[in-house]
Amino acid sequence: MPAPSVTTIDRAEVVVVGARCAGSAAALALAKAGRRVVAIDAARLPSDTLSTHLLWPSGLAEIERLGALDAVAAIGAPELTHAMAAIAGYKVASRFPAVGEIDYAMCVRRTGLDDALLRTAVAAGVQLRARCRVTELLWEGGRCAGVRYTDPDGAEVELRAALVLGADGRRSTVARLVGAEEPFAHRPSGRDCYYAYWKDSRPDWRHIAAQWRAGSDLGTAFPCDDGLLLCLVQPAATGERGGVGAAEARYTAAIENIPELVERLRGCTRVGRVRSATDIASYFRHSSGPGWALPGDAGHFKDPVTAQGIRDALRYGRLLGEAAAPVLDHPERLDRALRDWEQTRVRDCVDIYQWTNRLARGETISPLEHALYRAADTDPAISEAVIGIFSRTVDPSSFHTPMRAGMLALRALWNARTDPLPVLADLARTARDTVAERVEAVEIRRRSHRRVPPMSRPAESSLTTSSPGDDHA
Ligand SMILES: Cc1cc2nc3c(=O)[nH]c(=O)nc-3n(C[C@H](O)[C@H](O)[C@H](O)COP(=O)(O)OP(=O)(O)OC[C@H]3O[C@@H](n4cnc5c(N)ncnc54)[C@H](O)[C@@H]3O)c2cc1C
Repeated sequence: MPAPSVTTIDRAEVVVVGARCAGSAAALALAKAGRRVVAIDAARLPSDTLSTHLLWPSGLAEIERLGALDAVAAIGAPELTHAMAAIAGYKVASRFPAVGEIDYAMCVRRTGLDDALLRTAVAAGVQLRARCRVTELLWEGGRCAGVRYTDPDGAEVELRAALVLGADGRRSTVARLVGAEEPFAHRPSGRDCYYAYWKDSRPDWRHIAAQWRAGSDLGTAFPCDDGLLLCLVQPAATGERGGVGAAEARYTAAIENIPELVERLRGCTRVGRVRSATDIASYFRHSSGPGWALPGDAGHFKDPVTAQGIRDALRYGRLLGEAAAPVLDHPERLDRALRDWEQTRVRDCVDIYQWTNRLARGETISPLEHALYRAADTDPAISEAVIGIFSRTVDPSSFHTPMRAGMLALRALWNARTDPLPVLADLARTARDTVAERVEAVEIRRRSHRRVPPMSRPAESSLTTSSPGDDHA
């Protein structure tokens, strides 16, 4: 079948592929700087997407920076002023540490959240083309020079631009077409995700973001908009897709394994089906090249266990737009700005990537974790610091000082003095893991400097399209 011929050729200064968190933030920053931006999304918008949606104070601070906080607050999700994790009989509980003026978290369903972000971007001048799927990239003189997309009527449109941002999620078409699909760092998750909404009947819990762990199971309950409660469970991954009813069965079984979660859900009624995400992996992809960049999940993803994705998609989307806007008309300076932006994201995110990967292992609570949570139960400063890691006010590496590690090791050994072998084994493993993570962090930074090999991109000519392949979007 010959490819359908292009019916329209159009121009913008920037094309943003994907118009949710990363796409809206990047497009908004560019439009605020006076650039002509077209955002293209294959979905009918507003619409839901496969994602839970806890926003730590740091995520809300990003929304505020974009000027969308009032629109998001108007959706009506309650302010979650307290975080609570109950683990192995111990409680890590604290008010949320403030980020700027914001000292609460929020859990806002994606249809409303993404719509509020996108409306803010459109009000700033971004032109939205929904239900349009990007299928190819245009190349000129070795640079990405635009996209080809199919519009809702099936017509083929060529949209030329100085910069193409692939904000098109984990299965990014842009990443594939620039040759960056294969991550340069990659860690499969040890957990599967299952979530559903419940009509919340517990007003006394409506200000608390709660998490429980029992054995290898992990469950959360986050009050969200419309009087609902989001209940996510993350049991250990099985590596199986499962047949009809598997998600429902695993969801129910994981909840039943966590008695405090059963108690939290008492009197609440399930609304709708269980949604699942399995086979998840955290990764870094090469995220910039001549005339293109990959904000959001397209370039970097962390397992949902620490709920960092939306915040990082917004933050590094905005930073990308701000970095690119002033140099858009100078290709060399633009490419340098894109590279610097990519390095900033790698530098900022390696630590939390590794912390997330540890939590995503899907294992039972180790003796050292046990000692940590026991310490947090009695020391509010430790509780606040642990919660600060999730909210990005505390770096994991500054929390895990040799002093604190030594103290926890001594406590764990003291608690297990009749049978210290499991603690010693855990200590040995933690020491090995810590060394391996240091090596991995250096390697990630080193690899992130490498460029995507030009041979994986299509041949240059005056204006060529990249070869179409399977569309994974
Ligand atoms: C199960 C699960 C739970 C999660 N829970 C949380 C949480 O609680 N808190 C949190 O902060 N993060 C969470 N995350 C992470 C969060 O969902 C992502 O980090 C975030 O959605 C990234 O936003 P994005 O804009 O990069 O991509 P997306 O939100 O994936 O948006 C990509 C957009 O690109 C469009 N697109 C794709 N291909 C094309 C194409 N070819 N042409 C045009 N458009 C295209 C899609 O239609 C889509 O609208 C979770 C993720 C998962 C999977």
